[in-house]
Amino acid sequence: MMNFFEISEKLGPCGLNCSKCFAFADGSIKKLSIELKDNLGNFEIYAQRFSELLNKPVFKKYPDFNEMLAYFSTVECKGCRNDECKLFAACNVKQCSKDHAVDFCFQCKEFPCNQHGFDEHLEKRWISINNRMKENGVENYYDEIKDKSRY
Ligand code: SF4
Ligand code: SF4
Repeated sequence: MMNFFEISEKLGPCGLNCSKCFAFADGSIKKLSIELKDNLGNFEIYAQRFSELLNKPVFKKYPDFNEMLAYFSTVECKGCRNDECKLFAACNVKQCSKDHAVDFCFQCKEFPCNQHGFDEHLEKRWISINNRMKENGVENYYDEIKDKSRY
């Protein structure tokens, strides 16, 4: 099991798992996208042919899929603890957790506060993640979610 410090490098102070974010440079989405891209090789030529040969219009959508895959293959965020978040411009948690000298929001005496800057959807996730870390411990929480999609 990873120790607290190693886990804090993977999770933001809000508790969201940066290592499973599509934008994380060392994340599984990027790694798997590169692998899939390599395996598909020059598939765009075949996609065109298959749309006619197999009469499967879905192959016409390959260029868009390929563009998304190329994007996932080149993202390079180093995670909330080491980089600027590319997703949540309005997030206050990173600075606020430093000001309150906590690693995670559940350790803050003001949790759950209204200073996070999240929308309603993310606020619900933030509360439930932090309650879970508080109840079970950060190490157990990470063990539970480390192989699951964050989406
Ligand atoms: S800091 Fe933001 S963009 Fe970067 S990996 Fe974490 S959630 Fe994703
Ligand atoms: S005030 Fe709110 S956002 Fe800031 S560290 Fe405490 S719980 Fe997190």
